[in-house]
Amino acid sequence: MAKKNILNKKSLDFFEKYLNNPSPTGYEWEGQKLWMNYLKPYVDTFITDTYGTAVGVINPEAKYKVVIEGHSDEISWYVNYITDNGLIYVIRNGGSDHQIAPSKWVNVHTKNGMVKGVFGWPAIHTRDKSKEEAPKLDNIFIDIGAKDKKEVEKLGVHVGCVITYPDEFQVLNKDKFVCRAIDNRAGGFMVAEVARLLHENKKKLPFGLYITNSVQEEIGLRGAEMITQRIKPNVAIITDVCHDTTTPMIEKKTQGHTEIGAGPVISYAPAVQNKLRERILETAEKNKIPFQRMAASRATGTDTDAFAYSNGGVASALISLPLRYMHTTVETIHRDDVENVIRLIYETLLNIKDGETFSYFED
Ligand SMILES: [Zn+2]
Repeated sequence: MAKKNILNKKSLDFFEKYLNNPSPTGYEWEGQKLWMNYLKPYVDTFITDTYGTAVGVINPEAKYKVVIEGHSDEISWYVNYITDNGLIYVIRNGGSDHQIAPSKWVNVHTKNGMVKGVFGWPAIHTRDKSKEEAPKLDNIFIDIGAKDKKEVEKLGVHVGCVITYPDEFQVLNKDKFVCRAIDNRAGGFMVAEVARLLHENKKKLPFGLYITNSVQEEIGLRGAEMITQRIKPNVAIITDVCHDTTTPMIEKKTQGHTEIGAGPVISYAPAVQNKLRERILETAEKNKIPFQRMAASRATGTDTDAFAYSNGGVASALISLPLRYMHTTVETIHRDDVENVIRLIYETLLNIKDGETFSYFED
């Protein structure tokens, strides 16, 4: 594939719309509908499951099955406790960051639509400077402008409502994309773009391709655990985000060195099948796609683990998109990396043959 721009106006418009739509863990279906609607012209059929995972399928009759996967959910909060004077205490739904909460706007999701709120915080003037308290789960709270618990309830807010941030897609300096939930709306976007390119370039694959957007990754890879049993794939290539470790206060000696703009990040970990990973590396080298390496002891912490350790073992690999400020509302990625992850997955698919086992014991 020529090194022309992969992203076009239509795909970027979709990415923006898809990001701006909230898709908290457990409540992903509106985002999945947007995603399936975009993917529809490029696949033969869809599979969906009880909890909301969506899969676009090319060649559904084929016996040999390859998955390319991202996850569709985003971190959020749950309403956990409402005080008599109408303030709301929260618990996490995924790895939401208590440190960034104060002074953020929020949307509380209710049956009657969104209710606006703010994470309040005591004024600097009123705080004891000799013992400044850091924001923690038990001292952050949401104010929705209600004078007491009754008024909170009248607005349709109750224990169990989910809460997301309203922050929307922005571009910094032409080629940096900034938004909440780029982890991992970018993954679903990139695998959909792979399907679009296969279609537009009239590529016929010798196997079934399962373009998968799993739910519930943020609370323990649950959607992937479910859908891998359903698909029973032979190969799974997962894409998620990883940290740019070049910004302040990150220790490279423990976190490694990966950064935005330097290419897709390819993982080494026990869950990653070595022969599949080598195929990806060879593909990157042959096509002059820049890449970085990352190592993980034990689990990768991504859906890779769920696919790898399912169905008696599935050859799995992880291609990550480097990202700054993970789990904040200003997650930042580089446009070039997005294009290079798409390119790398696309070229790798063209480099996989029907029936390949990736066995260590065959030539
Ligand atoms: Zn995450």
